[in-house]
Amino acid sequence: MSKRIDRQKMRERMRKRADERRSSGGTYHIQLPDGVEFMSLDEGRNFLDFLPYEVTGKYHPDEIPAGELWVRRPYRMHRNIGPENRRIICLTSFGKSCPVCEERAKLTAEGADKSILGALRPQERELYVVADKGSAKVLDTSYYNFGAKLDEEVSYRDDDTALFWDLEEGFTVEIRMSEEKFAGKTYLEATRVDFEERKDLSDKFSESEIKLDDCLVELTAEQVQALLHGMDTPPPFEMDEEDDDSESRSRSRERDDEDEEQEEEPRTTRRRRRR
Ligand SMILES: [Zn+2]
Repeated sequence: MSKRIDRQKMRERMRKRADERRSSGGTYHIQLPDGVEFMSLDEGRNFLDFLPYEVTGKYHPDEIPAGELWVRRPYRMHRNIGPENRRIICLTSFGKSCPVCEERAKLTAEGADKSILGALRPQERELYVVADKGSAKVLDTSYYNFGAKLDEEVSYRDDDTALFWDLEEGFTVEIRMSEEKFAGKTYLEATRVDFEERKDLSDKFSESEIKLDDCLVELTAEQVQALLHGMDTPPPFEMDEEDDDSESRSRSRERDDEDEEQEEEPRTTRRRRRR
């Protein structure tokens, strides 16, 4: 049999794959606007100036209507999806049913192995906008290792610090991150939260620095199915054929996985932050 190949087809496929990688940076779940960077947390003391952001999505897990200001964008993430071990945003983060969660429910009913169920369990995470050295950055963090501690402190105190993220009257939040170990993994966990007076930030920042809802990459149920079952399918990002230089539109980066967190429990203890 001759080894004739359809060069045109191959060329197109190569280009498509290269574009996918170039535009996605190898990750498919968070895309930051051009020029915006992730904020990272260090072990020890971190001084964070949280900024409000304008909710733009139709659905918000904290039930915040579009157009209002809020401090965080909670989301769920599935990791290790399909043969390429992709991280994807659980579609329940957008108020939709999620094929991965449905698969997990089915497997649970069938009495599947704990490790399989654990691998499919979504992790509770959050995005925040934080002012850092004059620019707004995105903090992407685990709810249980970070947000839960912040919630606990805000619930405990009954003062103005609940609005620590207010531009004018907010507070600098000092968060101590400590190294914890669980199941052979090391990760950072917030172990102490303090609030300090800070300056009015409204002359340097606005409430619309970064639209966090838009940073979460929402796949269709079909795309999630395809990834889950390892099928060769259209890329998760629909590329405009004309817009070849999609890299310039937005950037997406994979952070080092410093947050190898412990097995998470269902988010039943979560408290709503008062406004
Ligand atoms: Zn899900």
